Amino acid sequence: MPDPEVVARAPPRFHLLAKPSGSTCNIDCKYCFFLSKEALYPDDRHRMSEATLEAYIRQLLEAHRLPEVTVAWQGGEPTLMGLEFFRKAVALVDRYRRPGQQVQQTFQTNGIALDDDWCAFLKANDFLVGLSVDGPRDIHDVNRVTRGGKGTFDLVMKGWERLRRHGVACNILCTVNAANQHQGRRVYQFFRDELGATWIQFIPIVERATAETIHIANLGWSAGPREKRLLYTQTGSLVTRRSVGGEQYGRFLVDVFEEWVRRDVGRVFVQLFDVTLEAWFGRYKLCIHAPTCGNGPALEHNGDLYACDHFVEPRFKLGNIHETHMLALVAAPEQRKFGSDKRDTLTRQCRECSVRPLCNGGCPKDRFTQSRDGEPGQNYMCSGLYLFFTHTRPAMEQMARLYASGRAPAEIMAAKAAEDRKRNKRSPCPCGSGRTFRLCHGRPLPAAPEQPRPAEAASVADVQALPSS
Ligand code: SF4
Ligand code: SF4
Repeated sequence: MPDPEVVARAPPRFHLLAKPSGSTCNIDCKYCFFLSKEALYPDDRHRMSEATLEAYIRQLLEAHRLPEVTVAWQGGEPTLMGLEFFRKAVALVDRYRRPGQQVQQTFQTNGIALDDDWCAFLKANDFLVGLSVDGPRDIHDVNRVTRGGKGTFDLVMKGWERLRRHGVACNILCTVNAANQHQGRRVYQFFRDELGATWIQFIPIVERATAETIHIANLGWSAGPREKRLLYTQTGSLVTRRSVGGEQYGRFLVDVFEEWVRRDVGRVFVQLFDVTLEAWFGRYKLCIHAPTCGNGPALEHNGDLYACDHFVEPRFKLGNIHETHMLALVAAPEQRKFGSDKRDTLTRQCRECSVRPLCNGGCPKDRFTQSRDGEPGQNYMCSGLYLFFTHTRPAMEQMARLYASGRAPAEIMAAKAAEDRKRNKRSPCPCGSGRTFRLCHGRPLPAAPEQPRPAEAASVADVQALPSS
């Protein structure tokens, strides 16, 4: 362990994302710039060794000074490591866990390789699984495709059904991108009504590029057998055509919120809504909207530790855990500065913004436009974030008051219903869509029509035949 001075500088807990198969994946999502990170380790199998696995688990458990520890597996696609690797991980957690430590393992996957053995293992060891789905088939298959370009919807749904059959705790991770940005409520309704999901997380797709790289960035991020692609870095002030629109991200969230606040408070957990309510009490559960960050490092397969999963690039490499204990790397002045810069580099527009205590300028990776005063470093999605935080403010305030007085925030739904009964159904919908309330959030959406299976849908063979590194 590092000396006590170093330990004193380190956060008492942090949320490390481990990438045991690096950024390699068994499919080829068009917007996934993480695929390009394979270029950081050329001629490498991109597989975490047993020695690195052991160093990782041991150091992570040593480093935590609060009882709750999260062991978070991500990728690329972690199932590429095979089940035996994770059996060893579980055994190592048991070996190095200190008395009183409560360890939660999480596992982000596209779900395609999950068979009954995988699901039984995940259930037996209480993993919390995040499944990546972008919405109904016609939306999901736009970007989430095999290397042959075939849609993966059917394969992912099989994984979801298996997870549910085994009783594995699951949440849906949905990206918000150009293909679904206008369909917030439909996407949400699909997850809620057709999948029965009760935990949903939305993350915006913002792929940056420069004038020189935008053309090639628009082609995608993985290197084919005959072609090289760019190594993605957080540079440039242009975005690819797959990226969500800045304001549209807010509109998407508002569309979902107006449905959720009428029907699902306390029943469906939408991460950003929960995080926003917590922020009313000064508790920040998500780095993106916290005043500072720097407690979410990313571990590559060979033990290299980076400042954040979104900054896996040479200038943000902190060191290697085989050479320096991860606690010392997390406590390093450059990493502490990385985290405090989030607050210290806010533009004047952000500092003076009425929703700053909720938004805190968003993630630094997205701060590449100019503020109203022409200052660099404004969030690309500022208009969308402002819209979301101001639009939801009255309802959030109401829920915060209910909660603070010992009542259930879900009581807001009765208040909304009473408001809606008085509302002229032909008046504009409060979501701002421009449609009348009667034709928008004033009526439940009809069930999404069953989509015909497109000819280009992938089968398991399309995926298994792919080289995995
Ligand atoms: S850079 Fe963004 S994603 Fe990374 S830790 Fe900071 S806020 Fe979180
Ligand atoms: S809404 Fe815009 S101006 Fe306000 S804090 Fe967020 S990014 Fe800054």
